[in-house]
Amino acid sequence: MFIPKKYGQSKIDKCPFCQKMATAMNSQSVPVCNSHKEHVLDGLKCACGSSLEMLQGRYGVFFSCVKCGNVGLKRALELNPVKPRISANNENNFSKTRQPEGRKEITVRSDDPRYFD
Ligand SMILES: [Zn+2]
Ligand SMILES: [Zn+2]
Repeated sequence: MFIPKKYGQSKIDKCPFCQKMATAMNSQSVPVCNSHKEHVLDGLKCACGSSLEMLQGRYGVFFSCVKCGNVGLKRALELNPVKPRISANNENNFSKTRQPEGRKEITVRSDDPRYFD
């Protein structure tokens, strides 16, 4: 069976936040997965320490450093641990670790051994 080779468009972008296949775009036109559509990349820094300015190019988002010139999205993500900015009502990943332990409501009876722990 003949499978035509694809050029250029065969590249599948990965979501910068979770590395899953990017199937959507966020408000910055960065390819993201469906669950990270609300996330934006912000405050990325160049290898030289300067702030990167996000620009929209013909082939998508890229960055510009005042000292180094253009920096590709992939490179920018390599340089920057991604900290997604998102509205406060969606912090699933963080609430798990933050949740105080042992706050479950349990009916304590005086004959329950846990009562005296
Ligand atoms: Zn994602
Ligand atoms: Zn730079």
